[in-house]
Amino acid sequence: MTTTILFAAKPQRWVEYQQPLHEALGRTGLDYRLGLDFPPDEVDYIVYAPNSDLQDFTPYNNAKAVLNLWAGVEAITKNATLKIPLARMVGGGLTEGMVEWVTAHVLRHHLGMDAHIVNPAHEWKPAPPPLASERPVTILGLGQLGLACGEALAYFGFPVRGWSRNPKQVKGIETFHGNDGLLAALKGTQGVVLLLPDTPATHNVINTETLSQVAQGAFLLNPGRGPLIQDTALLQALDSGRLSHATLDTFRQEPLPADHPFWSHPKVTVTPHIASETRAGPASEVIVENIRRGEAGEPFLHLVDRSAGY
Ligand code: NDP
Repeated sequence: MTTTILFAAKPQRWVEYQQPLHEALGRTGLDYRLGLDFPPDEVDYIVYAPNSDLQDFTPYNNAKAVLNLWAGVEAITKNATLKIPLARMVGGGLTEGMVEWVTAHVLRHHLGMDAHIVNPAHEWKPAPPPLASERPVTILGLGQLGLACGEALAYFGFPVRGWSRNPKQVKGIETFHGNDGLLAALKGTQGVVLLLPDTPATHNVINTETLSQVAQGAFLLNPGRGPLIQDTALLQALDSGRLSHATLDTFRQEPLPADHPFWSHPKVTVTPHIASETRAGPASEVIVENIRRGEAGEPFLHLVDRSAGY
């Protein structure tokens, strides 16, 4: 039996993924077809990016799974035509990239590096930062990425707190969960990192009330998703000094509109959704492992709980 795998993503992704997918599929020993176009009822697996042209899954009535190339699934969980299992990307270079981005920006704000990098008046103003051990950092979202970032920050000595939906015990991280745990996780913290998924339950988690909990002058990073933040509350917190800086990688509208106040705010750094990117080589291994599992009758990895939205 031939396994038919449809690649449904933007054409440049096909250029990147074609060879590593063939290499990984070749190692499985499966008899397979991989391509951009097959009769829908012959397709067994759909390797998928939510910004592809494929939005109606109805004709793919024999497919066994949709294998998402991205970690975030908010653009597909709401698709009512998708009735088969949906797996998301875990690994694929995403974790390493996110740990680098989060660690770099936490250290940037912790060490006050901007004052030395941009110093047009050539002022000699020594202001030693506190040690990491004196600066608590809270990560909202303690999943694959939040956990890895928390462990990296704990390695540097930051007292790390993490917040999740379900209770967790993690060595070296003080954990909080559920709506009741949110304010306690933020109370007095000096750095906030958002690594929550975009679901109805996480929208506007950063608002006037939650921002009132953080220490005066705390910094905030958002590599999670734009709707996690109530933008006006964030701007008010920056203007009042409650927050010293926000480094934002994700936005309610992307690309961020040219007239959005974030672009010109002196206490906001905008990065264009580059905190972490799925890499074709390792991601192909993740995708193909799920195809192998599907063909062997084993459970898929990284399945999305569509009722929870992530
Ligand atoms: P996971 O699903 O592994 O982790 C999500 C975490 O959020 C879990 O700890 C989960 O809790 C928690 N969570 C979800 N809903 C709630 C809630 N209502 N209240 C409290 N906690 C909640 O996701 P990943 O770590 O893999 O990815 C996180 C997000 O990062 C992605 O959804 C995506 O939006 C973003 N991302 C951004 C990238 C970028 O380049 N900017 C790249 C990749 C991802 P629990 O553990 O209890 O389930």
